Amino acid sequence: MLTFDDEITTNAIPSGVLDAFKGEKPQAPEANSGRIRVEDKRIINCQADVNQLVPFKYKWAWEKYLAACANHWMPQEVNMTADIALWKSDKLSEDERRLVKRNLGFFTTADSLAANNIVLGTYRHISNPECRQFLLRQAFEEAIHTHAYQYIVESLGVDEGEIFNMYHEVSCIRDKDEFLLPFIDVLTNPEFKTGTVEADQALLRSLIVFACIMEGLFFYVGFVQILALGRQNKMTGAAEQYQYILRDESMHLNFGVDVINQIKLENPHLWTPEFREEIRGLIQKGVELEYAYAEDTMPRGVLGLNASMFKEYLRFIANRRCQQIGIDILYPGATNPFPWMSEMIDLKKEKNFFETRVTEYQSGGSLSWD
Ligand code: FE
Repeated sequence: MLTFDDEITTNAIPSGVLDAFKGEKPQAPEANSGRIRVEDKRIINCQADVNQLVPFKYKWAWEKYLAACANHWMPQEVNMTADIALWKSDKLSEDERRLVKRNLGFFTTADSLAANNIVLGTYRHISNPECRQFLLRQAFEEAIHTHAYQYIVESLGVDEGEIFNMYHEVSCIRDKDEFLLPFIDVLTNPEFKTGTVEADQALLRSLIVFACIMEGLFFYVGFVQILALGRQNKMTGAAEQYQYILRDESMHLNFGVDVINQIKLENPHLWTPEFREEIRGLIQKGVELEYAYAEDTMPRGVLGLNASMFKEYLRFIANRRCQQIGIDILYPGATNPFPWMSEMIDLKKEKNFFETRVTEYQSGGSLSWD
């Protein structure tokens, strides 16, 4: 069994974690009290004051923060009436129900792990304020995603204990999370500090595992499955939520890729042939774990999908992740069996949902308090 109870949870910060912040930021006023120069800023191991956001060095980080805020959405704004009626009817097959439940079983806890990883791990080791600004927004989005899955579970009236404990009970979900845990643990360890080649590679490895394997690979079978349901006019409320989540996640992935590539640029000594080969091995392992999840959630063909289509899709995505961070691809010739997925990711801004909601959020800021 997993020992998540020993892991960091949102309500129990292990003793020692807070101690690690003592003597770090905020710095004493006399230390590093000069005005910030752009050329002094670095993603990791930066000596400049991390509390001074400007002048910007990494405009891509600030622009992604602004774009993420502009895409704000909340789960309860999505109408679940049709999903509830369908779930209570006899119009969904057992295979479709299994697919939905396992999907929720993976995602309900996955985004919580992602949030822990950012807040209790990554954030501390990224010494650049514009990147931290995005990470703060990303952490809130992970909370929104966990909220979305909870909202779907509650709307459908499925057994919440069964769903939320699936990461202990269902092996294809547990295996994915067990793969991830060591890469969270290393960053949340209060003793961990960057500044050596070994530690900086450990941070870079964790960033790659999270962006390229967790958010960039482990989410994709589940996303395709629910969006495929939506394309057949089934579970359309859930599918709409997953579409917003997919868009957020593709932004998290792209931000992660930019951070990884910038760290490489600033620290080329970390990017050794051995390290690159190790990363390829991890991505390959990620493909195997995600394929096992595809087989388990689709023991037979369902919705015109079957596990072997996902083998090709995962290979295609894995190649893309390799290219994004500049390592040799793993599966030459892999093609995309789901070209419609790219349309889902590029959800158009003019979609009604955002037109109406964005305006409401802005007007929320001008409410009077009497
Ligand atoms: Fe994420």
